[in-house]
Amino acid sequence: MSIASSVVEICAEQAGGARVTRVTLEIGQLSAVMPEAIRFCFDVCARDTLVEGAALEIIETPGQARCLACGATLALEEPFGQCECGSVDLELISGQQLKIRQMEVM
Ligand SMILES: [Zn+2]
Repeated sequence: MSIASSVVEICAEQAGGARVTRVTLEIGQLSAVMPEAIRFCFDVCARDTLVEGAALEIIETPGQARCLACGATLALEEPFGQCECGSVDLELISGQQLKIRQMEVM
């Protein structure tokens, strides 16, 4: 809930008084944020703000990690995994972020 409300807050602030018509959010697959939950909360939080009625587009970005044992890069759907070399010593390099990629105003 707090994520959605801060997204609405940031958009309303950046809109500078204009009406927001579309928001594109980038959500990392490893961020433990459910797109559907964000979608629902976004509509609720946007009520009575400049963001009300804006279309919310969500792009899910895949997770990526680097193996600390062999240096290989692997794709992850969960925040843990195992490298082909057998190591589970992984450093997450992407997929945890949540950011506003784009915003359209009227
Ligand atoms: Zn490895």
